[in-house]
Amino acid sequence: MSSAVTMEATRRRQRLSSNGEASETTEEPAGQWGRAWEVDWFSLSAVILLLCTAPFLVFFFVMVCDQYQCSVSQPLVELYSGEVTLRSIWEKAPSFTWTAAQIYTIWVSFQVVLYMCVPDITHKFLPGYAGGVQDGARTPAGLINKYEINGLQSWLITHALWYANAQYFHWFSPTIIFDNWIPLLWCTNILGYAVSTFAFVKAYLFPTNAEDCKFTGNVFYNYMMGIEFNPRIGKWFDFKLFFNGRPGIVAWTLINLSYAAKQQELYGYVTNSMILVNVLQAIYVLDFFWNEAWYLKTIDICHDHFGWYLGWGDCVWLPFLYTLQGLYLVYNPVQLSTAHAAAVLLLGLVGYYVFRSTNHQKDLFRSTEGKCSIWGKKPTFIECAYRSGDGGLHHSKLMTSGFWGVARHLNYTGDLMGSLAYCAACGFGHIHPYFYIVYMTILLVHRCVRDEHRCSSKYGKDWKRYTDAVPYRLLPGIF
Ligand code: NDP
Repeated sequence: MSSAVTMEATRRRQRLSSNGEASETTEEPAGQWGRAWEVDWFSLSAVILLLCTAPFLVFFFVMVCDQYQCSVSQPLVELYSGEVTLRSIWEKAPSFTWTAAQIYTIWVSFQVVLYMCVPDITHKFLPGYAGGVQDGARTPAGLINKYEINGLQSWLITHALWYANAQYFHWFSPTIIFDNWIPLLWCTNILGYAVSTFAFVKAYLFPTNAEDCKFTGNVFYNYMMGIEFNPRIGKWFDFKLFFNGRPGIVAWTLINLSYAAKQQELYGYVTNSMILVNVLQAIYVLDFFWNEAWYLKTIDICHDHFGWYLGWGDCVWLPFLYTLQGLYLVYNPVQLSTAHAAAVLLLGLVGYYVFRSTNHQKDLFRSTEGKCSIWGKKPTFIECAYRSGDGGLHHSKLMTSGFWGVARHLNYTGDLMGSLAYCAACGFGHIHPYFYIVYMTILLVHRCVRDEHRCSSKYGKDWKRYTDAVPYRLLPGIF
């Protein structure tokens, strides 16, 4: 078997373009791919900085709304002038409560039950929806994991219950999330740290798949960026799919609904800005669950290892910082002019169109192995080869048509346009809600560079051919 692989690896391969003509031939790549094995000083410093500052940053952005009407500069000015101290700010913030702990325990347990015990039936009656058991992408060690895709069903059940409670049962107030927001922050931190630490220890003691573990020799990097690739408990409880999608993204729309309910309670009306934020973000969330099977082929699942970055990030960063606009609007009920609201809606919808169409084109292209139509034509592509850790040689294709021929990551550009629309829905009174677009720009530019570095190791010279054919990353002619 291994000699066959070696022979195959050394054989020069002929490449065909989409029109069937033979193109150049090159040596097979033999590079290792996946997350780094060695940590440079820059990455290590960034990891330690993030570990030390990210929890305080989340606290800061929530606290400034609670104590300073969402003014980011006011607490800094008061700290500078000595009017307040870090201690007095900390003491004024609501602390952990058992009520919040109960709410959060019920919430996470309910999501676990929906994830583990309610197999998907929605794919049986929703045409075009891919739910139920689906294959993930090949891991660096050569495995293909199976996933139970039932996120859309979980979202629908959860929101149906939320609606039923608000309209008929009245077990709890729809403002429950907002009313317990800072106490809930402590609870999410407890889970975020617990799950990251558990994943870290598990990787040493009982990894799900030892061949896909990566140890760098640096404990901080291992803790933050993860060791195990796809940690699981039992056959089906997949940490990445559960923590990213369920307590985090299902909660996103509920948190926004809770903010809208709070505006109604405080002012007797819901602003058009709040409606815009709820609608645009709900489109994004529903898109995520409708395409959950596609999510199995994204960087989070295919390339990132599960550590604090994903574990804590999904539990704390995502629900608190992705919902800053709604929080801001509770304290600052901005009513937009019709022209401003229309411009925000247009930007959000165009951004969503670019984001979705770009992702869809790649998915269609990959699932049909290039036998499809992109913008009314047969797609063009570059044939590539790569090796998995078990020595196996595999082939893949990089599309150079459609949005993927315009720039290498227009899906990120669309995502950024949508993110800007959420921020612009809050008007221009404070910079607080604009933190999201700053963060998303850093996240997606960094992700783009990280992904390209990985693709370059994976595909070698073929990647260079692709970047020569499509020279820009996010904005044609600029970057
Ligand atoms: P992509 O979906 O863009 O996937 C990148 C991978 O696609 C590459 O690693 C490569 O994988 C493959 N690929 C690259 N170029 C081509 C090509 N020309 N033709 C075919 N395949 C190609 O990246 P992400 O997983 O980061 O993003 C998925 C979506 O999720 C994006 O739209 C992004 O905006 C969004 N996102 C949102 C976040 C948020 O917090 N809101 C966070 C992160 C992402 P391979 O090894 O298979 O070749």
